[in-house]
Amino acid sequence: MASITELVPPLNDARKRTVDQILEIKEPPVARCRMLSRGMEPYHRLYLASDDDVTGDKACLACGNCVDSCPVLRREPQRVGVTDRRTSFALETTVGPDCELCFSCVLACPQVDTEIKDYVVDEKIPETIPQNPTLRRFDNYLMVIAALVFGIILGVFLAH
Ligand code: SF4
Ligand code: SF4
Repeated sequence: MASITELVPPLNDARKRTVDQILEIKEPPVARCRMLSRGMEPYHRLYLASDDDVTGDKACLACGNCVDSCPVLRREPQRVGVTDRRTSFALETTVGPDCELCFSCVLACPQVDTEIKDYVVDEKIPETIPQNPTLRRFDNYLMVIAALVFGIILGVFLAH
């Protein structure tokens, strides 16, 4: 079976540079990443009162995923109280320059292309949220213990 990276072509250099610029601005990045995406695909399922074709529409769906995923709003829910909207505009209004550039909103948005999300997860999050070296060493230490225990169990099993 093909892996997800084989199915979804990576970002080209021009789009990478644009995403880099977007993610450097200390403001909620989800709307700009959405506008950089392809928008509605023909197979997306949406109820429409008319027969309008919405393929390529990049509008915010008002699903609220970005609002729900934002750590600033999780910590300070009173900010959300100023509006009953659950849109990227509401996120921008309530968070603004207090954005912590965690990129959760980008990953939560159904209108942001998968390849942008892959790039954010693989390249941007490790840069902006550095791994704790102590924890990484601890991870390796635990792996050695796990390998040792597995080796003992395998040895006992083979000896019988
Ligand atoms: S989810 Fe993260 S990146 Fe998005 S607005 Fe909130 S703090 Fe900023
Ligand atoms: S997550 Fe939902 S509400 Fe937020 S920008 Fe995307 S479509 Fe709009």
